[in-house]
Amino acid sequence: MTSRPRAMDLAIEGGTIIAPDGRRRATLYVADGRVAAISEERLDATRTVDASGRFLMPGMVDAHVHLMEPGQPEREDFPTGTAAAAQAGVTTLIEHTHGSPVRTLADLVTKVDRLASRSRVDFGLAAHSWPGFEESVEPLWRAGVAFFKVFTCPTHGVPGHSPAQLLSLFTELARLEAIALVHCEDASMTAAAEETLRAAGRADGGILAEWRTPEAELVAVGSVALLARLTGARVVVAHASHLASVELVEREQTLGAAVACETCPQYLALYASEALELGAFRKFTPPARARLVSELDQMFSALRDRRIAYVSTDHAPSTRADKSAGGIWDVHFGLPGLDTTLPFLLDAAHAGRISYELITEVYARTPARLYGLTPTKGSLEVGADADFVLVDPELAWDVSDADIISKAGWSPFAGRRFVGRAVATYLRGVCIARDGLVMAEPGTGRFVPGPGLRSPDGAY
Ligand SMILES: [Zn+2]
Repeated sequence: MTSRPRAMDLAIEGGTIIAPDGRRRATLYVADGRVAAISEERLDATRTVDASGRFLMPGMVDAHVHLMEPGQPEREDFPTGTAAAAQAGVTTLIEHTHGSPVRTLADLVTKVDRLASRSRVDFGLAAHSWPGFEESVEPLWRAGVAFFKVFTCPTHGVPGHSPAQLLSLFTELARLEAIALVHCEDASMTAAAEETLRAAGRADGGILAEWRTPEAELVAVGSVALLARLTGARVVVAHASHLASVELVEREQTLGAAVACETCPQYLALYASEALELGAFRKFTPPARARLVSELDQMFSALRDRRIAYVSTDHAPSTRADKSAGGIWDVHFGLPGLDTTLPFLLDAAHAGRISYELITEVYARTPARLYGLTPTKGSLEVGADADFVLVDPELAWDVSDADIISKAGWSPFAGRRFVGRAVATYLRGVCIARDGLVMAEPGTGRFVPGPGLRSPDGAY
């Protein structure tokens, strides 16, 4: 006698399941918070959700997020930033905050404890690599940080790494099979440009392009990618702003470097000239480079060709008041992005610039894979966490500052019409947001440790 299989907890039926390698009409079944089956057959389920006309995509994984907690609650915090994430279709994010960096094991333990009651979506945490804290690298990796954030130039109060410091850090990362996300701008070039611009009394939005130049980015990308090859370390170039950075990374890849490129919507959509008019509201670094639509097309084409590995937000919000207080030199760098990144990508797919399948690759599977969150996160394989988003691909809506959940309260995409939006988001089989309403309480989200924790002597 065979025992009757127990009923599934949840069936999502009638939708089109989108995965990196294709799409199909099927029902997704959830049991115990995990994907239990994807089937054209009807199985027993306690509850059924009709997803007719919807795309069913894996929950998005945003690998580059700053939620400013603790430290700058007026800019963002976990309950608010992760509400924006849940509503937009992001079910896992990897967070790090420059104002309260994780530099030691004790910092990590304190942060994980604090966040146990703060996050509405699942989260990994990155550590900061910090000159003087080299001894912490191994314990942090073994305790489950997703990656080490590294700067080549002093930025946001974080010290830069010289090539000598990068060499020894990357050697250690290679030994540990750990991974770094590196902000690439050459320190000597940004410092020299700043000196010249300040001496000339410049305080207009035009300083951004002249201060944080493509040359400064490329010099740092070139040496970081080269050092990745020489040491064998796995390295990701953060927020590649234009095609030349992607090409430099590619050159080192063909020579054997384990290096990859991240980009963000701002480098696929915004123009350099916007800073002239909008000043602080376009102060992020590297800045938008594009002068022509063809340059944005080049970035989309690099994304389509997988020369850019993945997309993140680099969510680093400031309120309107913050961005308006003080001169261009004084205001914080950064843009809000969690509210708008999946919609931006859905709109690009609707317009035919990328495929919906590619979104599940570049905003879910690849970042999850690179940072060791697979197989539980980033895909809808059987056995993965039942993190998914129901998308209405034809829903046209106008982005407006009033609808931004992030404490920023504004968006560089306000005024644009997007086609496509998440209408429901599920985390481990539970609906956490629907039709703009966030249901998940702070504390719903769990810490997802990185792969270093899984090594035999790892402990946390
Ligand atoms: Zn960042």
